[in-house]
Amino acid sequence: EGGGITADMVEDLARRHFPACMRNLQETLRRDRHLKHFGRWQYGLFLKVLGLPIEEAIAFWRKSFSNIQEDKFNKEYKYNIRHLYGLEGKRANYPAKSCTQILTADQPGSSDSHGCPYRHFSPDNLQTALLSMYSSQGLTAADLPEIMSTVKAGHYHVACTRVFEITHATRGVKKGEGVGDGESVTHPNQYAARSRELER
Ligand code: SF4
Repeated sequence: EGGGITADMVEDLARRHFPACMRNLQETLRRDRHLKHFGRWQYGLFLKVLGLPIEEAIAFWRKSFSNIQEDKFNKEYKYNIRHLYGLEGKRANYPAKSCTQILTADQPGSSDSHGCPYRHFSPDNLQTALLSMYSSQGLTAADLPEIMSTVKAGHYHVACTRVFEITHATRGVKKGEGVGDGESVTHPNQYAARSRELER
């Protein structure tokens, strides 16, 4: 997986293939034309692993931060993006965050948009967000009680897996199959990769 993704493809890929955490970051970015530090870090690493090369990442963030002046962007944000790709700072090859890391580290405050919606949204906001994100892919209000009881039990990745199954039913995914062989979602990139694979 990966390779061949351009800045212009991200929004469409988000709509078709991203889990709720990344859909939420994309939608916040589109609405606010900005993401805070942890949001940029979570989303930027995810996009890197998805296959967005560095030049396309700079183009994507430049286009998305459309309210920000060129020199401010170059000074404050370009470095950040290059850092994600291991081209600045300690030049580490940062992996994208797993569900466990997203669920437990860097708890989002009320004005943040990183994190996992299954865990960090209020029940009302989560239900509204899920319907708005996924009703075009077959999720209905009738699916929500089951998802919400899983969330209430603290099984966030199980809820995410169930949403994957429902939204990929037209691709032949059945209940219990998860992201393949009954596996549940453990990583946002695994979710997106499997979703893209099913479309081929
Ligand atoms: Fe993202 Fe994982 Fe939460 Fe799903 S369970 S929304 S992939 S962090």
